[in-house]
Amino acid sequence: MKTNLLNYTLEDLANYFESIGEKKFRAKQVFRWMHVYGVSNFEDMTDIAKSLRAKLQDLAEVAVPKLVTEKLASDGVYKWALEVGNGNKIETVFIPDAGRGTLCVSSQVGCALECQFCSTGRQGFNRNLTAGEIVGQLWWANKRLGKDPKGEKIVTNVVMMGMGEPLANYENVVKAMRVMLDDNAYNLSKRKLTLSTSGMISALDKLAFDCPVSLAISLHASNNEVRDKIIPLNKKYPIEDLLAACKRYLDNSPKDYVTFEYVMLKGVNDDLAYAHELIKLVKNIECKFNLIPFNPFPNSGFECSAFGHILKFQKVLQNAGLITTIRKTRGEDIDAACGQLVGKVVDKTKRQQKWALLSV
Ligand code: SAH
Ligand code: SF4
Repeated sequence: MKTNLLNYTLEDLANYFESIGEKKFRAKQVFRWMHVYGVSNFEDMTDIAKSLRAKLQDLAEVAVPKLVTEKLASDGVYKWALEVGNGNKIETVFIPDAGRGTLCVSSQVGCALECQFCSTGRQGFNRNLTAGEIVGQLWWANKRLGKDPKGEKIVTNVVMMGMGEPLANYENVVKAMRVMLDDNAYNLSKRKLTLSTSGMISALDKLAFDCPVSLAISLHASNNEVRDKIIPLNKKYPIEDLLAACKRYLDNSPKDYVTFEYVMLKGVNDDLAYAHELIKLVKNIECKFNLIPFNPFPNSGFECSAFGHILKFQKVLQNAGLITTIRKTRGEDIDAACGQLVGKVVDKTKRQQKWALLSV
């Protein structure tokens, strides 16, 4: 089987070149062709010696995941489905906004964590994405969207908020993020690359040293009783431990605050008393809140809080001096909003069967 060079950081690629008897420094040229110019065919890497191109053609490939569908929502949001083998598909979403364009990248086929309000969680889990499949999503988005008339890239920000729990696929996600940050590749700044996690503390501590990027935490509850019910992982990593880990992370973070995401679930976590509880909970940590209106999916069993109520919840937090935004729901008409990504997961965990039985 050929070696997929898309899985490699620049350092990996240099080592690979050495292993095939080439000079390490040649790796940079090939790396730039792949990631800066979006070239996947060695033939087209015109300033590389012909002999090296032929050798690479024999031994290696730049295997980008196959783009199978593209949907464009009325508000300019794109959703792409990419084929990742064995009938599995993942989804990537692009969200244009004033002055920036954010790409929402998937890290796994499905998710093993079963947060109750998330349709990806309901799909079950198949496998981790490779580093090449993660970077491949940014590769495609740049290819499709290119640059604006001023020559600036359309994709300016990346959030690891698509399908899957990025910290559960630690090695590959870190490799992929290193490529995204590399100035010989996508040259993103650490402030414009955000990883969202439901709270895998052990990996979070490592991330602070291996690849500190901006951090978003799916908090979604102000106490363990509520959080245990909606995020099963909380039983392993309870809120107080999670907050302590966030504080440790801030010592190395490119931003001096953590963003707490809070999905608004009617009658579950949206009582104003919980907003007051949150204020006490986070009083020792620099943070911002992002309230996410719950995006429904079939048989979810949840409802979104009324918008007027979300505003009241926001006001309580704001009155305590906490910067609190409400996430605009985007791409709704193509099911591209937060928590609605399902791709096509050939479910190894048989979770879909379990849910089908429960909803009878
Ligand atoms: N696994 C990571 C990142 C992917 S989910 C995590 O859980 O953080 C990205 C965000 O969407 C998370 O904050 C998640 O809790 C939220 N989310 C999941 N399902 C949702 C839904 N149906 N409506 C609104 N937000 C949802
Ligand atoms: Fe997985 Fe995140 Fe969905 Fe939870 S919210 S099931 S961690 S993708």
